[in-house]
Amino acid sequence: MTPSYAEAPVSQTLFARASAVTPGGVNSPVRAFGAVGGTPRFMASGAGPYLTDADGHEYVDLVCSWGPMILGHSHPEVLAAVREAVGRGTSFGTPTVGEVELAEEITARVTPVEKVRLVSSGTEATMSAIRLARGFTGRAKVVKFAGCYHGHVDALLASAGSGAATFALPDTPGVTGAQAGETVVLPYNDLDAVRAAFAAHPGEIACVITEAVPGNMGVVPPLPGFNQGLKDLCAAEGALLVSDEVMTGFRQSRAGWFGVEGVVPDLMTFGKVMGGGFPAAAFGGRADVMARLAPEGPVYQAGTLSGNPVATAAGLAQLRLLDDAAYARLDATAAELRGLAGAALTKEGVPHVVSAAGNMFSVFFSDAPVTDFEGAKAQRTDRYTAFFHTMLEQGVYLPPSAFEAWFVSTAHDGQAMERVAAALPAAARAAAEV
Ligand code: PLP
Repeated sequence: MTPSYAEAPVSQTLFARASAVTPGGVNSPVRAFGAVGGTPRFMASGAGPYLTDADGHEYVDLVCSWGPMILGHSHPEVLAAVREAVGRGTSFGTPTVGEVELAEEITARVTPVEKVRLVSSGTEATMSAIRLARGFTGRAKVVKFAGCYHGHVDALLASAGSGAATFALPDTPGVTGAQAGETVVLPYNDLDAVRAAFAAHPGEIACVITEAVPGNMGVVPPLPGFNQGLKDLCAAEGALLVSDEVMTGFRQSRAGWFGVEGVVPDLMTFGKVMGGGFPAAAFGGRADVMARLAPEGPVYQAGTLSGNPVATAAGLAQLRLLDDAAYARLDATAAELRGLAGAALTKEGVPHVVSAAGNMFSVFFSDAPVTDFEGAKAQRTDRYTAFFHTMLEQGVYLPPSAFEAWFVSTAHDGQAMERVAAALPAAARAAAEV
């Protein structure tokens, strides 16, 4: 018999086994439920909008593997492409046609990307983009924003969001002063701070890197004109603008957040959706900048599994299914969910802000609009914890941290939404009681 949602004996046993052999029992920190407490659920399978854990509980999944599963789990056409690719062999260490097709799909969708290089993770993409920006400009300093997360790149872990925010590890041991010393961290949405940084370090800033829409301190939309302002300042100062679209890319529109806002960066980074649930990521942009990359230019970058044929087949199959109708559906589902969550919290008198940009959003248990990391940190995370567990116990899987975005897929149908709607009143009450 399946135990009640509050109990997860198989997950508990697996977590004990995992903790004996893996630090914290997980391979990525937020998965450990450290921020919300309780037993992390070990998932056994996924189908459409649902995940099933090792105890047999079924959940409506509002994490979607932190973004990649934009068509839902086990999409038949993506699985067919993967099976077909696996049948031809899994890695050759040579160029393959799939890499060319995926690169063509990316450059066709995102016009500022004239040339693109495939890698295996978003971290690799941002790390390589920073190296390239430094190599191209001959400058050392990198500007990033507090609360933005760009993967676990040494130089970019200062005041990072995501797990680093969840665990309050702004200055990670193991990152030396030399590695982080060229990083300038500024408050998000503050163009005056960027102007002041350029004035303080004339001719020294290689690039400004920003999440196209920050989703790793919760979702904090760029204020109107912020991204364009970054572009203008970078252009005036001979620095590059690196727009990190690992989360927003191919999620917010066919061309990601670029397709919504139209600001043209010099370099862009991608991951998540473009891998179809496999490790594929990319960075790309201006042809003259990308030409500095080996073997065309001197900036070295490489990868044994880069452009892996199974990953590229999965990514390509997923991207080809993401047409305008799919994006309209994602936007509508996200809007419905925002409305449901907001209404349930309002009904219980819980101070909150549903913070959204496109189909990405999160709920801050806070009474003021959030425009930067300080604002995000001011939220009542204890309320989120109560809300999270009450949803979990009713079969809705939310991000196990208040500093993460909620994700929907095209597979979230009326039935899944009804289950979420039915769970929200009790969760809102639980948040109100904290
Ligand atoms: N950049 C952004 C905006 C992200 O959200 C993430 C991951 O969440 C990364 C980079 C790092 O990607 P990965 O986890 O694939 O290394």
